Amino acid sequence: MSEVPIYSIVAPVYNEAGNLRRFYAEVVKALDPIGEAWELLIVNDGSSDGSLALMQELAAEDGRVRVISFARNFGHQIAVTAGVDYASGRAIILIDADLQDPPAVIPRLIAKWKEGYDVVYAVRSQRRGESILKRMSAKAFYRMIHRITDINIPVDTGDFRLMDERVARVLRQMREHRRFIRGMTSWVGYKQTGVEYVREQRVWGETKYPLGKMLAFALDAVTSFSFFPLQIMITISLILAALSLLVGLVISVLRLTMGEEFFGGQATTIVLLLLLSSFQLFFLFIIGQYVARTYDESRDRPLYVVASTVGLPEAQVANQRHANEGAPSAAKSELGRHDGE
Ligand code: UDP
Ligand code: MG
Repeated sequence: MSEVPIYSIVAPVYNEAGNLRRFYAEVVKALDPIGEAWELLIVNDGSSDGSLALMQELAAEDGRVRVISFARNFGHQIAVTAGVDYASGRAIILIDADLQDPPAVIPRLIAKWKEGYDVVYAVRSQRRGESILKRMSAKAFYRMIHRITDINIPVDTGDFRLMDERVARVLRQMREHRRFIRGMTSWVGYKQTGVEYVREQRVWGETKYPLGKMLAFALDAVTSFSFFPLQIMITISLILAALSLLVGLVISVLRLTMGEEFFGGQATTIVLLLLLSSFQLFFLFIIGQYVARTYDESRDRPLYVVASTVGLPEAQVANQRHANEGAPSAAKSELGRHDGE
C-alpha cells in the first residue's frame, strides 16, 4: 500500500468521459510540486458513457487514484459525501471533474490550510461560459440562502473547497439525505476563510444541473437550513387579518353613507377567493416539503450503494454496509489502513 495521503482530492463524476484524463493530468500538475502524498478519489455516480472504464484505467496507471463506483446515479451531493466518507487525507478537497473548478487553485487552498484554517472555500469572482439565466439564478440563489438561513453561508461559493479532517469527521456524522454540503461545512464552524477564483467554462460535455434540478436543489438548501418559509406564514396571515378588518370597516362606512348596492357584485368575491386559496395551497405545498423531508429522514435508508471500488482496501469496502453511520472512515483506522500507526 502506498503512503498515507496528506491530501484527498474528491471528485464526483457523472458522464465526464471527455474530461477525465485532462482533469487527472491537471490534478497531478497542481499537487506534485507540493511534494506531499495525495490520493484522488473519483466517485462514479452511475455514469453511462465509459467514464468508469477510464477511471479504472487511471487507477491502474497511478496507485494514487481510487475509484468508488455507485450502483446507480445518486446525485452530486451524495457522490461528494461518499468521497468524504472514504477519504483518508488530513485535508480533503472537493472539486468538480469538469474543470470548471481549476485544479491549479488547489495549492492556494492548501496554503490557507497551512496557515491554520479548517475550511477554505473557493469564491467565484467570475463565472465564464455559463448562460445569463444560470448566472443570474445562481447569484439570486446565493444571496437568498445567505439572507434567510441561520448559519453564515458565504455567497458565490460552490462545493469547491478544502476541509480539515476534523471538519470531515463531523460531516461524516451528518447523515441527512437532502444534502447541501456547502451549508453543512459552514454549520460545522471552526476557522473558515475564502479564496477567490475564476470559474471556468466546462471543457467538455453539458451541465447536469438543468433548471428543474437547480430549483429542487435550492428547495433542499432552504429546507435544510431555514424555517423561514414556515415562519413567514404568520406575518402574512397577520397582514391579511388586519387588511380584512380595515376593508370591512371601509365597506360598512361606504354602504351606510352611499347606499345598499355599494360594493355589491360577485367579481370581487371570486377574485379574492381565488387569490386566497392560491395562497393557502402554496403554503400547504411548503408544509408538504418539510413533511416529506421528515419522512425521508425517518426511513433512514443508506445514502448510497457502492457497486465496486478500485484501490481501496477490502476492509473499507466491506464497511460500506455501515455507510449510514459514517462508518467507513471510523472503522478504517482500526482495520489497518494506516498500518504501522
Ligand atoms: N455530478 C454527479 N452526479 C450528478 C450530477 C453531476 O456526480 O448527478 C458531477 C459532475 O460530473 C461534475 C459535478 O458533479 O463533476 C458538477 O456537475 P455539473 O458540472 O453538471 O454542474 P454545474 O457545474 O453545471 O453546476
Ligand atoms: Mg460544472
